[in-house]
This record gives sequence, structure tokens and C-alpha cells, in this order.
Amino acid sequence: MRIVIITSNMSIQIEIVRTISGLRRKVSSWRKNGLSIGLVPTMGALHNGHFSLVKQSINTTDKTITTLFVNPKQFGPNEDLTFYPRDEASDVEALDALGVDLLFAPSLAEVYPVDFATEISVPGIGDVMEGVFRQGFFIGVATVVAKLLIQSLPDRAFFGEKDLQQLYVIRKMVTDLDIPVEIVGCPIIRESDGLALSSRNIYLSADERICATELYRGLNQISQRALNGKQISILIKEEKKRLLNSGFSKVDYLAVCNTQDFKEMACLTKPAHVLGAAWVGKTRLIDNIQIC
Ligand code: AMP
Repeated sequence: MRIVIITSNMSIQIEIVRTISGLRRKVSSWRKNGLSIGLVPTMGALHNGHFSLVKQSINTTDKTITTLFVNPKQFGPNEDLTFYPRDEASDVEALDALGVDLLFAPSLAEVYPVDFATEISVPGIGDVMEGVFRQGFFIGVATVVAKLLIQSLPDRAFFGEKDLQQLYVIRKMVTDLDIPVEIVGCPIIRESDGLALSSRNIYLSADERICATELYRGLNQISQRALNGKQISILIKEEKKRLLNSGFSKVDYLAVCNTQDFKEMACLTKPAHVLGAAWVGKTRLIDNIQIC
């Protein structure tokens, strides 16, 4: 079924599917015609970071599916599930303009029927940093991403390096569960002052927005100084202090990690990333950069 939404004076021709059976029907018709499929999972409130993933999928596959589902299983009890920004109409318009073929926007009951019980956990990579500060977060992410991959069976699925640990958790899950999909990591899209784009940035007040860019600056400082041979533990301590002095309310973590297993490093060896999560007022920001 092709749904055409008419808004004011423009018609939008993206196929919007809300059921797993509808999604599967569409995917199997594409498959019968030998078409390749790209999947871009999102929680909506789309910005240029999401659009860069969509463009990469459109450029490298025949058909692109974007999913829009605010996944309650990846929010902790005190997190912002209720307030998480939602604007499906504007997301639909933007995805249509980019040329996305299908938007999969299921209801909560479609994804998690009342008797839903299965959870996927990826210990190791999933137990550090975000896994410590957002208990259950990666279980929620791995479970929903596994479902979306199995529901749509794409050739490739696109994820942002903005959520680097999440990208590696998903890669590990896909390998361990033999899910036949290529996981493609896409570069972080930033504002001109370096702040990584995020749906949550709209929570920031004008003053918080100015302060927020210090996280990216801090990651760069740690990277530069680590490359110059400074002791990592001292760098991190100094940078945490600087962030708190420059207006951050709390620093969850700053860490220099091995890029493969996300183990923290005391002495720099490559490949390595600096990762950080910190709060400006009530907004939690995460970011990372590669040390190279
Ligand atoms: P979300 O809607 O926040 O779950 O994000 C959906 C996807 O977009 C994830 O793979 C994110 O890593 C990716 N993403 C979010 N922000 C950015 C960004 N600034 N640059 C690149 N990818 C991003």
C-alpha cells in the first residue's frame, strides 16, 4: 500500500509502513527484483547527522529504509523518554526530500507486544562507559536493533560514529548472532564550532550551547597531549576539572580507549579513541574523536 500524505500545498510520496508484515511484504518484493536494501535506524527528531547516514545508504544501495521508533527499552527510569523530541511530520518531509523509499514507524505494541520477553546483552564492550552510566542501555539498543535487522533483512545497516560504543556493540552482536548484514559506520557530523549534532541539543539554553562545545575541545586537547607523551590519567583529571570550571554540571567519564575492545588505556597505543560523556545543565552530551 502506498500512502500519500498531503500537507498544505505539497504532496509527499514516501511509503510509510507501521507493521512488520507490511515491511516484510515490501522487502520481499524488492528482493524478488534483485534490489539491495539499506537500513538506517533512528529515533526521529532528525538532523544532518541522521541525513548523512541516509545519504550514504541511498548512494550505496538500491532501496533505503529509515526506521523511526523511540525505543523505551534503552531509556533508564530517570531519563528523558517522555520529553524526547518527536516530530514525525517534519521527519517524513525531510526523508521524502532525500529520496528515502520507505519509513518504518511501528507502534510500541508492534515492536513490544505485552508478552515480549527476550533481551540481548553484549557483555564486555557493553559493560564499560555508557554501559556503566546508562544501566540497561545497550541491552535496549541491541534488542531493538536485532529486531529491526531481522524484520527488514537489509544488506547494509548504517550507524553513526557519534555513538561509537553503540556501533561496536552492534557489530559484535551481528557477528555473534550470524545476522547477515554489513554494519557501516558513518563519520560524526558537527556544528561549525565542533559540537556533535544530536537530537538532544535542542534542550540546550543559549548559555549551555556556548559551553557545550568545550567537550569537543577537551577531547582534542586530551588527544593532542596524549600524542605528545603526557600521562593519560593526569590529562583526564585536568580535563574533567576544566570542563567543570567551564560550566559543565557533571562529567560521567572521559577515557582513552582501545578502539577494538573499548578497554581504557594508561599508555597510548593505536588504534585509540578519546570518548566522553558530560552534562550541561540537564542535558547529557556524548562525543568521541580518534587519536591519530
Ligand atoms: P538516534 O536517533 O539518536 O538513535 O541516532 C540514530 C543514528 O544516527 C545513530 O546511528 C547515531 O549514531 C546517528 N547519529 C546521531 N547523531 C549523529 C551525528 N552527529 N553524526 C553522525 N551520526 C549521528
